[in-house]
Amino acid sequence: MDYYQILGVERSASTDQIKVVYRRLAMKYHPDKNPGDKQAEERFKQISEAYAVLSDPKKRAQFDQFGSVDRSNINLNDIFKNFGFGGLGDLFGDFFGTSTETSSAAAGDDIEQILKISFREAVLGANKTIKINYEKNCHLCGGVGGDTVTCTRCAGRGSTQISHGFISLSTTCSKCGGTGRIISKRCSVCKGSGTVKEPKKITIKIPAGIDNGHYYRLNGYGHAGSNGGPNGDLYLKFSVTNDTKFTRDGNSIILHQPISLVSAVLGDTINVETVYGYEQIKIPAGTDSGEEFILRGKGIRGGNQIVRIFVETPKNLTFEAKKRFKEFAELYDNAKNDKDIIEKIKTFFKGTLNA
Ligand SMILES: [Zn+2]
Ligand SMILES: [Zn+2]
Repeated sequence: MDYYQILGVERSASTDQIKVVYRRLAMKYHPDKNPGDKQAEERFKQISEAYAVLSDPKKRAQFDQFGSVDRSNINLNDIFKNFGFGGLGDLFGDFFGTSTETSSAAAGDDIEQILKISFREAVLGANKTIKINYEKNCHLCGGVGGDTVTCTRCAGRGSTQISHGFISLSTTCSKCGGTGRIISKRCSVCKGSGTVKEPKKITIKIPAGIDNGHYYRLNGYGHAGSNGGPNGDLYLKFSVTNDTKFTRDGNSIILHQPISLVSAVLGDTINVETVYGYEQIKIPAGTDSGEEFILRGKGIRGGNQIVRIFVETPKNLTFEAKKRFKEFAELYDNAKNDKDIIEKIKTFFKGTLNA
């Protein structure tokens, strides 16, 4: 679907222009104005989806770049609620098939839960079983909350009329909250709330590359809706625990790799840990602390691992080793301009230090 084409706007159209166009089209194809017209209803859904995407800078950028967006992230209910059409809210019931008799169907609340995962789980992805405490409709009263009688304020209609000049607006009855009924005797199980808490286990597949603070949305895994309304959604917010070895910088993984003074001076081949297993790298002679080596593709989602060298200075030297170091200092001073210094050092240290 080309959302720009659906709304008939230029790709360069501003958010305000898009809003104006959507409002005009939404009025025209509104199901209330076209009762029973399936084509108009389909069109209404399409333009609403287009507006949902193009009015959201993030989604619009994604659509511009990839030509599509993740449609499961589009919440038309939100668009309608936020748009401020008088009376459009009344249409949800029929439009989404969420309610048959009244307009009081309400979506369940969303659940936001923090999910702790390890650094490696974040990088590699993982299957995780989590426990959520979700509210579902009470089995005894069916979510109603108890025995009910007809609301006296709205006479069971669920809404009251307010007139401003020649415009007549229908608003939800404040006494019954739109259900048209009020509770005369509270349900003994849910104490009138209509919902009961129930722990639920779900297993989710965490995609590779999750970072601290990322959200993951699971449609329909939130609290149960009331009066036939849909479930809310579950939002998992990831909290990635620090790794003892690795840190993250964008899609790069950084590893501080200690090497011995001897390896630094003479050069060496060392085994380096990555989240995917061990890799060998060649350390040239004369490597300093802070020098970096790149392991291509060993980072996050095709990124690199950066191996940052840290030269360990030997401590608690034996008497013999200290003596050799002093001798070395003299040799080094005398041979600073000697091209063969590395070879001399190699011979000098052979077998002395294994720091
Ligand atoms: Zn009422
Ligand atoms: Zn109940």
